[in-house]
Amino acid sequence: MRLLDRLGLAPSPSVAPPVERAPVYGRAPVGYSADLSRILALPRRDLATAYSETDVEALEAQLRAPPGPCGCVAMSPPRTCPTRLRRVQAQALLEASRVGGILGPIGTGHGKELTTFLMPMVMPSCRVAVLFIPANLLPQFEAEWGYYGAHWRLPNLAGGRWFRAGLPVLHVVTYNKLSNQEATDLLERIRPDLVILNEAHNLKDPRSARTGRFLRYFEKHPRTRLVALSGTFASKSIKDYAHLSRLALGEGSPLPLAHHVVEEWGTALDPGKVVAPPGAMDRLCEPGEHVREGFQRRRNATRGVVATEESALDKQLIIRPRYPGPVPAQLLALIEFAHAGERPDGEQFQEQLQAVACARQLSAGFYHRWRYPRGEPPELIEQWFARRKAWNKEVWEELKGKRREHLDSPGLLTKAAIRAHMTPPYEGDKPVWHAGTWSEWSEIHNAVQPEPQAVWMSDFLVMDAAEWARSRVGIVWVEYPEMGERIAKAAGVPFYGGGKTASEAILRETGSRTVVASIKAHSTGKNLQQFSRNLVVTPPSDGATWEQFLARTHRPGQQAPSVEVDVCIHTQDYFKAFATARERAQFIQQTEGQPQKLLP
Ligand SMILES: [Zn+2]
Repeated sequence: MRLLDRLGLAPSPSVAPPVERAPVYGRAPVGYSADLSRILALPRRDLATAYSETDVEALEAQLRAPPGPCGCVAMSPPRTCPTRLRRVQAQALLEASRVGGILGPIGTGHGKELTTFLMPMVMPSCRVAVLFIPANLLPQFEAEWGYYGAHWRLPNLAGGRWFRAGLPVLHVVTYNKLSNQEATDLLERIRPDLVILNEAHNLKDPRSARTGRFLRYFEKHPRTRLVALSGTFASKSIKDYAHLSRLALGEGSPLPLAHHVVEEWGTALDPGKVVAPPGAMDRLCEPGEHVREGFQRRRNATRGVVATEESALDKQLIIRPRYPGPVPAQLLALIEFAHAGERPDGEQFQEQLQAVACARQLSAGFYHRWRYPRGEPPELIEQWFARRKAWNKEVWEELKGKRREHLDSPGLLTKAAIRAHMTPPYEGDKPVWHAGTWSEWSEIHNAVQPEPQAVWMSDFLVMDAAEWARSRVGIVWVEYPEMGERIAKAAGVPFYGGGKTASEAILRETGSRTVVASIKAHSTGKNLQQFSRNLVVTPPSDGATWEQFLARTHRPGQQAPSVEVDVCIHTQDYFKAFATARERAQFIQQTEGQPQKLLP
């Protein structure tokens, strides 16, 4: 009961409201800026009353395909004919044709897919469009295109079998493809006048290669229109989508355009231990309103912003903790060692992140270590380990608490150590690090080349999950493939890990038997509402990840009266991951206005 109490879980099966913590202010208040003044002056509109029923019907008449045969009832499971647009789909399409760009914080289950398919048809004088989708949506793309295409006038699909003159061409590309080396000029080759992003948070990091390519194209072709849709634009910071808002809405963006103002607003809006007082941002708020809510209200009232504020589903979502029996004492001791910096086989960690990762693995009953496929002699391995351990320890100590430029990661420290030991001596501007253990380690570090291997310490969690899997029908969610395989084997059910084949196979499941699924591979986009029960064996700490994978089963089309989720929180590491996820879910709910499934 101790963990249960601290988590704020009521005795009732559903999750109780999170406790509002008094903010700890430790930064300068947000100042007045030209951006704030611009945003305050933007006209406000109420999307709910912006379009009439007549507008929606006229749009539907324009986009509806001529009546003909369709295969909806023959689909598995059978689906109803999508003959009407949902309210938010119609709003997004009407608003896009009026404004010429969309920032759409639209939750899962609101039909973002059809919205993206129809977008080129309504965007004024659109000729060539690109739709970016996550790679895991590709397996179901063709089926969805056919399903909607039987009822709606869709654009020409680039490379498709049919071409109708006069209609725009739509290229469908995965975000992964945009990351490939050969995709460096991909957008330049297609030359779209409209870019549509489904699950736009895939382009949240301007430092990544894919986002860099996307930004570069808009810089060269600033008249390109952008439609960006996502249920979770910001999972940790408003920085995650300020650039998308700017490209979609330009001067009409409800987020700051200047990078330093985005940073400044983040100090008041983003989750963190030390937050800034809202200061001048108070002007966005009604008396007594939280700054996040004032910001969200201002954003959603902006032209070009189409947001859903209600959950797509009023079915009950029941989240409850699961304690898979007593955790073996040996594991608890090893977890404690891991947090102190040491792996069960004596390996010394360099960074906190590695310690946390190892503690999470141990909470599941195993840890990753190495094996030696090249057959290096044991005495060499021993010497290699001793020197490596000494080196790692020195790096660990050096990194503790200090975060200096050019010296703030193991890789950078290694470079600094190399500079310190150069002959002739290094004379550049970058710092050097006279690490005592470097010379011995550098002599030997290439001599041994291990490969990772999972070492099982206990099957207690595997057995518990297998028992769950055998006693009911549902999805067992896991982070680690080796764990997924073990549970599946013990329970006699399939495991679906990464890759295209697994993605196609899990979609064919009818919901009559339990499956084990990788969170990473299957937590976004897929319709898995044939299942209504979930077991989360290794709870992730990211609120957006939770939102995504809970929406696989808690979504429209769910036939069961409620969706149930059992979460293993038997160690401090898993308990903390779940608590962190709920904190982040609260940030998302307050700034995005998307009701989060982790919160009641
Ligand atoms: Zn149909």
